[in-house]
Amino acid sequence: MPELPEVQALVDFLGRRAVGRVVNDVELGSIAVLKTFDPPPDSLVGRPVDGVRRHGKFVDLDVDGTHLVFHLARAGWLRWSDQVPATRIRPGKSPIALRVRLDDGSGFDLTEAGTRKGLAAYVVQDPGGVPGVATLGPDPLAEDFTREAFGELLAGRRTQIKGLLRDQRVLAGVGNAYSDEVLHAARLSPFALAATLRDEQVDTLYAALRRVLTGAVQVASGKPAAELKDAKRAGMAVHGRAGEACPVCGDTVLEVRFADSAMQYCPTCQTGGKPLADRRMSRLLK
Ligand SMILES: [Zn+2]
Repeated sequence: MPELPEVQALVDFLGRRAVGRVVNDVELGSIAVLKTFDPPPDSLVGRPVDGVRRHGKFVDLDVDGTHLVFHLARAGWLRWSDQVPATRIRPGKSPIALRVRLDDGSGFDLTEAGTRKGLAAYVVQDPGGVPGVATLGPDPLAEDFTREAFGELLAGRRTQIKGLLRDQRVLAGVGNAYSDEVLHAARLSPFALAATLRDEQVDTLYAALRRVLTGAVQVASGKPAAELKDAKRAGMAVHGRAGEACPVCGDTVLEVRFADSAMQYCPTCQTGGKPLADRRMSRLLK
């Protein structure tokens, strides 16, 4: 799933390619992907793309005051074409959920692989009206997101830090992959309770959050959409690397598996050498 750095890179990419162009056509390959009905997607046709922004993991295309907002979810992606094929997409027969054609023949497809349909698009006058956008927490790379602001988010929350970091209502844009990376960089157990972190641990976590995300944005920025997935994978120290050596200490990266996801960590760097209980296994053993 694309997270803050990849979504920011997509936004930068679309900013360079799409802004200033006029929308020629919007095609829907899947009716289910469009979560709004008024204004209709056709209302974007004939109007210029004025800007592109990111809200958490949402992309927001400002088309002359009307907004096309989308969230790629787990298996969605954006595919840019300098020359979009002339053939129309056949609804229900294609992984293409939505296609935008621009006036110079270029454009992009939102695609979704597999059967898990999470990709969502909205055509709205006010992006703040999109449910997932309205409830977003602060952006961790915003200038006013200070160490103090972060401390206030954690205070009093008896929640595991891993779950808190990826809760979009608490912090916008961090998901499963970058929360693993940030916790590894901060040498913190993913199961540590937010409210019990000492001040210096919060200092370290805040610094790691900003450093990991800023670094990933720098790596991703300027890359074409097609290269972002590989760049993300290559930049990971522990996420998705169970069984490999930790690049910091050389210990073997371990993982905890859940029903439909998994998280990875280094026991030496993060948990005092102790493996964390695999929840799924413990449940089976009960
Ligand atoms: Zn390590």
